[in-house]
Amino acid sequence: MKEFDYIILGGGCAGLSLAYELDIKKKLNDKTLAIVETRDEYKRDKTWSFWKVTDHNFDDCVIKSWNNFSINSELGSHEVVNKEYPYQTIDSGLFYKKVLNQLKQNKNIQFFKNTDELNLNNSFIFNSIPAKENYQTNLWQHFKGIEIETPKDIFDDEIFNLMDFDCDQRDNVHFFYTLPFAKNKALIETTWLSKMDDKTLNDYDIQLEKYIKESLKIKNYKINYQEEGAIPLFYPFNKTDKNKVNIGSAGGMTRLSTGYTFLNIQDHSKYITNNIETIQNTKAYHIGKKYAFLDNIFLNVLKKNPDKMPKIFLNMFKASSKTVIKFLSNKSNIFEDLGIILKMPKWIFIKNIF
Ligand SMILES: Cc1cc2nc3c(=O)[nH]c(=O)nc-3n(C[C@H](O)[C@H](O)[C@H](O)COP(=O)(O)OP(=O)(O)OC[C@H]3O[C@@H](n4cnc5c(N)ncnc54)[C@H](O)[C@@H]3O)c2cc1C
Repeated sequence: MKEFDYIILGGGCAGLSLAYELDIKKKLNDKTLAIVETRDEYKRDKTWSFWKVTDHNFDDCVIKSWNNFSINSELGSHEVVNKEYPYQTIDSGLFYKKVLNQLKQNKNIQFFKNTDELNLNNSFIFNSIPAKENYQTNLWQHFKGIEIETPKDIFDDEIFNLMDFDCDQRDNVHFFYTLPFAKNKALIETTWLSKMDDKTLNDYDIQLEKYIKESLKIKNYKINYQEEGAIPLFYPFNKTDKNKVNIGSAGGMTRLSTGYTFLNIQDHSKYITNNIETIQNTKAYHIGKKYAFLDNIFLNVLKKNPDKMPKIFLNMFKASSKTVIKFLSNKSNIFEDLGIILKMPKWIFIKNIF
């Protein structure tokens, strides 16, 4: 059996972000690390976007950033401008390439396909593999996105559309999300917030084609890339142990009301790296207990009143742009929280606290 000081289970976003941070902070000069990852090859499989409210290591993997975004519903369109916190999009293919190039230079790091040859008992484990359980009573954010290219310039690439609710809702919450990377290239996603128990919602290709042709009025396009996924909007039930910390989605790094995870993973990686020498006795990292409390109320409202959500989202974005971005990126102070709470319909939210 091979022994390592640290083992990372799952070399995806969280596993590789942590390995990269440990390596660049020179925490692996005299320690060994095994990364266990099943995939055969790394290629672009996700597009990670977020408001840049804190620094991270991957500015050179950003393919586009914006200062403006819009929210649409049947009630109209609302534009938000914020120069302080740009919205950045990272191509996961560039991220994997950058991290793997860095890690292969360190002889103390080795990759494995499974744990068969590894002694897990004497190592500290960072686990990003989610437990397989039946989560059907919980909400998911599930989606499919396609990157399309058009022969003519069609998109305004200075502004992205965060949510367009002006579409078929089918008794759930549904919106389209459009990131124009260039005037002739955009990622368009159909996104549902549902329990994933209604498989009829998964006709993503039909939804995308209809939206592109009828709402965006684009007749001629080719598809360059596609991605599909489901982000759990609940905390996973992964066990922690004295020699194990869960990271990534498996470690509760997803913001429940939004699905945003990437930047929380980066903050968690820095926290672990700063405390690596005493990791067994270090307090667990949380993205903020107040957000867990507020997001649970928000999701209860969403489960019971899907039809009210477009208006609730639209109202939330009518708060100051800085406030709403900080709130959604879990960096808000109590006054900013109040600013958002006051925009919510009071009675519906109060009923859902209990
Ligand atoms: C398509 C998609 C788009 C997303 N877009 C955004 C976004 O725009 N912004 C944002 O903030 N968040 C986004 N997310 C959410 C989140 O940031 C990502 O899911 C992110 O990849 C989570 O990182 P992770 O390390 O927890 O999981 P992953 O990146 O999925 O890594 C887990 C790794 O574990 C490996 N693995 C699984 N089982 C085993 C096993 N038994 N043994 C060994 N290895 C195993 C997998 O192959 C994978 O590489 C998106 C999610 C998806 C699916």
